[in-house]
Amino acid sequence: MVDADQTFVIVGGGLAGAKAAETLRAEGFTGRVILICDERDHPYERPPLSKGYLLGKEERDSVFVHEPAWYARHDVELHLGQTVDRVDRTAKTVRFGDDGTLVRYDKLLLATGAEPRRLDVPGTDLAGVHHLRRLAHAERLKGVLQHLGRDNGHLVIAGAGWIGLEVAAAAREYGAEVTVIEPAPTPLHGVLGPELGNVFAELHREHGVRFHFGVRLTEIVGQDGVVLAARTDDGEEHPAHAVLAAIGAAPRIALAEAAGLEIADRAHGGGIAVDERLRTSDPDIHAAGDAASFPLDLFDARLRVEHWANALNGGPAAARAMLGRDLAYDRVPYFFTDQYDLGMEYSGWAPPGTYDEVVIRGDAGKREFIAFWVREGRVLAGMNVNVWDVTEHIQNLIRSRAGVNVEALSDPHVPLDSLVP
Ligand SMILES: Cc1cc2nc3c(=O)[nH]c(=O)nc-3n(C[C@H](O)[C@H](O)[C@H](O)COP(=O)(O)OP(=O)(O)OC[C@H]3O[C@@H](n4cnc5c(N)ncnc54)[C@H](O)[C@@H]3O)c2cc1C
Repeated sequence: MVDADQTFVIVGGGLAGAKAAETLRAEGFTGRVILICDERDHPYERPPLSKGYLLGKEERDSVFVHEPAWYARHDVELHLGQTVDRVDRTAKTVRFGDDGTLVRYDKLLLATGAEPRRLDVPGTDLAGVHHLRRLAHAERLKGVLQHLGRDNGHLVIAGAGWIGLEVAAAAREYGAEVTVIEPAPTPLHGVLGPELGNVFAELHREHGVRFHFGVRLTEIVGQDGVVLAARTDDGEEHPAHAVLAAIGAAPRIALAEAAGLEIADRAHGGGIAVDERLRTSDPDIHAAGDAASFPLDLFDARLRVEHWANALNGGPAAARAMLGRDLAYDRVPYFFTDQYDLGMEYSGWAPPGTYDEVVIRGDAGKREFIAFWVREGRVLAGMNVNVWDVTEHIQNLIRSRAGVNVEALSDPHVPLDSLVP
């Protein structure tokens, strides 16, 4: 039974928003919960969009966070296909929908996520240029990959980040020709550094993907909406029947910015600045998921984490904070990927420039190993590739902040948990 004394509004029906709504009810909140999302689909998880769903191995129904009836059953008022275009912090209202409906909030959660960055080159508006964020994008891209596979067609992917590589793997499985264009010297350079990026380059090369590193896409050549080729700044022209722009995502902060909330420095990934309780500069407004930038003492840094686990855990953490629970959000960042027969999990945070060395435990050549990014003997991050059930130990090592014996760390015969002080 809902008592209308208190109204909590959630803007954004991705994983963070849907999990926040679930947590409010699980924690016994009896006020109104209103979830507003500009997408027409019920809240869903995005990882399958570049993996199982794109490959046709996972059903559409399997991607949803809750079954549709869940929302009414838990008295969550769902407004789909409705954009929130204003937050009035003085009146404590949000405005949404074509008719400008106003709803008053006691607490507000901004879980607005991120949106794909667009290529700023001639030809970017051709119909054959794709992005991948939404279910509808994945549906369209699946059709494109099927066609390319059947007709020996060429897909050019701009960007060798996670989504670019996962789509490259899917496209090869469909039989399409794949060329990846990346300005950095290795794939995933900003996350893994050069040492481990090469493991992914080799994996894809073995599956027939062509890479062009150190070059930028300068033009997509086309006619009547149809993509014909992609040009790069080294003067080359690459055959292309479709292009995927996979050049990263930008946090959706316009609403927060217009409401005068503090925004994090772009150098730290931008995003809506929150404290360790995921509270924005307005104590009645929280933010979580891809849109939020939060401080993490463990790394003495402010981070914006664009990963599934951060939405899964951050949404509930924000919900608890909205209920006044005094708990800091201090999860070790975590993400995963699947490409061909490689499965990997990464915990921690160690972009280039923050670590001294990469320590390998196992056989990187066979792609069955754990890599540790280490600074002054302290483990900052760990990535297990085709090695399982070690995430807890890796995260404990990171959390301990203790110096470890690098020789023991690299020795698969020394149990990992014995290294945690
Ligand atoms: C193709 C793909 C594959 C991925 N694979 C992995 C993976 O393998 N591993 C991993 O760890 N992570 C992965 N991720 C990242 C992960 O999916 C995201 O981190 C996660 O979706 C973030 O959830 P969120 O709820 O913060 O934001 P989102 O999922 O982006 O949800 C935000 C929602 O808010 C809506 N919205 C925004 N502004 C408004 C507004 N003003 N009014 C109304 N609605 C609004 C948006 O349209 C969207 O529906 C992947 C992402 C993509 C796109």
